[in-house]
Amino acid sequence: MKRILIGVAWPYANGPIHIGQVGGCYLPPDIFRRYHEMKGNEVLMVSGSDQHGTPVTVTAEEEGLTPKETAEKYHKINSQALKRLGVRFSLFTYTMNETHKRVAKDIFKTLYEKGHINLNSMETFYCENCGRSLPDRYVLGTCPECGQEEIKGDQCDECGTLLDPKNLKEPKCMHCGETPDLIESEHFFLKLSNFQKLLEEYIEDKDYWKNHVLNFTKGWLKEGLEDRPISRDMEWGISVPIEGYEEKKIYVWFEAVIGYLSTSIKWSEESEGDWTKFWKNPDAEHYYFLGKDNIPFHTIIWPAMLMGYDNELNLPYDVPANQYMRIGGQQLSTSRGTIVSLPDILEDFSSDAVRYYITMVMPETKDTNFAWEEFEDKINSELVGNLGNFIHRVLSFTYSNFGEVPKPGELDERDEKVLKRIEEKTKEIGKSIENRKFKEGLKKIMELSREGNKYFNDKAPWENLPEEKEIAGTTLNISLRLVKALCVSAAPYLPHSMENLWNYLSQEGSIHEQRWEEALIPLDTGTQLKEPKPLYDTINIEDMEEDSKLVESLKRLDLKIGKITKVKEHPNADKLYVTRVDIGKEERTLVAGLKPYYDKEEMEDKKIVVVSNLEPAKLRGIKSEGMMLAAQEGDKVSLLKPKGDVGENIKGSKDGADMISFKDFQQFDFRTAVWENGNMISKEKLKPVKSNNFEGISVALIDEGKAILLKDSKGAITLDKEISPGSEIM
Ligand SMILES: [Zn+2]
Ligand SMILES: [Zn+2]
Repeated sequence: MKRILIGVAWPYANGPIHIGQVGGCYLPPDIFRRYHEMKGNEVLMVSGSDQHGTPVTVTAEEEGLTPKETAEKYHKINSQALKRLGVRFSLFTYTMNETHKRVAKDIFKTLYEKGHINLNSMETFYCENCGRSLPDRYVLGTCPECGQEEIKGDQCDECGTLLDPKNLKEPKCMHCGETPDLIESEHFFLKLSNFQKLLEEYIEDKDYWKNHVLNFTKGWLKEGLEDRPISRDMEWGISVPIEGYEEKKIYVWFEAVIGYLSTSIKWSEESEGDWTKFWKNPDAEHYYFLGKDNIPFHTIIWPAMLMGYDNELNLPYDVPANQYMRIGGQQLSTSRGTIVSLPDILEDFSSDAVRYYITMVMPETKDTNFAWEEFEDKINSELVGNLGNFIHRVLSFTYSNFGEVPKPGELDERDEKVLKRIEEKTKEIGKSIENRKFKEGLKKIMELSREGNKYFNDKAPWENLPEEKEIAGTTLNISLRLVKALCVSAAPYLPHSMENLWNYLSQEGSIHEQRWEEALIPLDTGTQLKEPKPLYDTINIEDMEEDSKLVESLKRLDLKIGKITKVKEHPNADKLYVTRVDIGKEERTLVAGLKPYYDKEEMEDKKIVVVSNLEPAKLRGIKSEGMMLAAQEGDKVSLLKPKGDVGENIKGSKDGADMISFKDFQQFDFRTAVWENGNMISKEKLKPVKSNNFEGISVALIDEGKAILLKDSKGAITLDKEISPGSEIM
């Protein structure tokens, strides 16, 4: 048994993770972890949200939130999205936690006391016009390396070069656009030069690293390591733990890498685990997964920090950084943009379909392109057409003709050959994953499945029925052994569908608790199979593109989940209530004509859907700041019933959308509707714009023969009372 630590680059809590990052550094470690767990190794996989630094403060200013609010908001969004994708961590935490702060300060202080950090003066930018200092990202300019304009002062997004804002061409203040002044200021520096020799020795035996990682690292070492400033003049972050300098904050990159160690310690504090078995154990192997822009932090800066802090700690064994996965394709991508967020793509497609295609275009050795046309093609022809097809053919044929795993008769040469291929291929797949060649491993899975399809076609067991039942049974027994081998070896890649398959095979427990060796163990004959369903659906991107008009129109609304906190009768109107509604960040007064339909007590504490970007209007002398949505059928009225959290946006509506008038709102066609098999059942059967599995009565926004089901994070919006489909929402 081996002990393996997997460190995964910390996503900034300043926006949702995009799919380029998923291919770069979030999916690979998950495949690696799942495989090693199946091999019986003990794995500790840690990461979390990087909540400090100017990336977060800049976004907070743009969104009108405090840095803490922004950091918490995106931590929640990203941890949920990673979970939905099936990426599992031993602990996915955040840098605001106390253990992290304590460990980060201790490392800073220890390195300072040991003479690896010193105080020096440097030139930083100050904007006279705004009256504030401008740390890294607050300065915009042109990249001195590649010429890209309007880049941020810490690192070029285009070419990945790490920058000092001073080196930008034509530097400008992010806020006012004025040219800022350089002023002298005192900062702390990590004396990387102290570690030049040790780092050269450290990479001596790293010839198994990816070429681009090793070359990049050697390049830095060859140029000679320069001391790097690791403090900033800003309010948000972890204070420098040196007396008299507490106003300064530790540079976000310096503390973020410490997160690997602090999270391991936190994991120990919260579980039965012992972090030292992973960190103070020469046999434990440490792997760090990240995008290429983060290479020097993990091959130079972090090892140097570890060496200087405590030389008993394990250093990175491998840093299998990926290159960039860009979003492209032809015209189809234009309306979708060049950035696709993980939460968005998981709205439209199943997580295993996303995992499949992203693995197939994983930028393991060179930059790659995520293309929508190719995504559709690979899902339909490979995942559905090859793997899903083989598995479903075998299962459904066996289920309807035998109902159980048939007994094999005598094997012929062809059968023996298939068994041999299963053995060879599963071994090869395991080797590919071990060597961090994830694309190669998945391709081998598809090869094995292709061989399965061919075997099944050639043997044509349907021709043996009903007379030669034993021959058909043998073919199916062998085919099922292949299906089981696929189930085990594809489990690290396609965890959700393989779990379903494990269940169709009537196997105990979860596929993810099985050993890798299980791939070669035949199913017990006589095992009753469960009725199988196809594992994957085909997709049609073009249809979805056409639908974007309706998606765009929903974005004009800011529909929020609110909670009624108070209900009073309107002093000047018989039918109106005056209510107070909590919509998360604020409380609003809403006037609603619900008195004939709801008792006051019935309404209190109810969760409702609020149109929060409606221009305020006076209703009989009282200002209503928005409206609550209800469905009406004759003399019956029902409030809409959300399930998500207060303050949350209805999916597809836009937080902070521009104000609209009541007349504008009336242009939207909202109706109650019955959904069946993903379609809206009405006079004209309407196609859903987004895939949905909802069955029952919900609310839809309708336009030109298309419909969007209104959903929140917990599912479809339903109704408080029984109302027929086709009723208007008002
Ligand atoms: Zn300024
Ligand atoms: Zn550049």
